[in-house]
Amino acid sequence: MAIRHHPSDDLLLAYAAGSLSESLSLLVATHSALCPRCRREIERSEAIGSAVVEEAEPVEMETAALASALARLDVGSGGAEATAEKRQAAPFADAGARNIPDPLRSYLNGQLDDLRWRRLGPGVRQYPVLSQPGGLNTRLLQIAPETTLPEHGHGGEEHTLVLKGCFFDGDDIFARGDLESAHGEIVHQPVSGPDEDCICLVVTDAPLRFTGLVGRILQPFVKF
Ligand SMILES: [Zn+2]
Repeated sequence: MAIRHHPSDDLLLAYAAGSLSESLSLLVATHSALCPRCRREIERSEAIGSAVVEEAEPVEMETAALASALARLDVGSGGAEATAEKRQAAPFADAGARNIPDPLRSYLNGQLDDLRWRRLGPGVRQYPVLSQPGGLNTRLLQIAPETTLPEHGHGGEEHTLVLKGCFFDGDDIFARGDLESAHGEIVHQPVSGPDEDCICLVVTDAPLRFTGLVGRILQPFVKF
């Protein structure tokens, strides 16, 4: 099935400029490994970024303006290292048969079957991928078939990228490669598909707020 849910233009641009946090960079790179459309979009943005730098060269720029332009494009003395680091999170085309696309694969100590999942709640297990200062939290969730997740809202943002299986949210279906970004006031209650476990890469930047009865009961025990 073709991917229908992509990162926002803002996320793709910020990724191309190298200005995303490691968590969001990993998220966009992993989506792009599965999505030729977004790989093309990122390449286009990077080409525009290079053209801007080249055009700017003959013009005498004030030092501060140049420094800020270079910082935005993540090049220059300090940025070179960061750029090299980001390269590791560059998207590679998905080979198809593998469950974990690069670059996510390099963050995990094994294939999906070998991961030491920890139970998070009924039908839901998690594997922590990355925890960053500032509250960004990156984890894999494995959700048993036909599991209704507790209804919840968000203090901040929640990005969910499907790697295996699918889930439904309202009238929308999210399958491998699809990314759902939920912000602020959105309250939703996703349900996993009937055929197999659904495995997702999830990045959150604030604790979730559970609104349903079951969720409120679980809240003290579930550290989302
Ligand atoms: Zn895409």
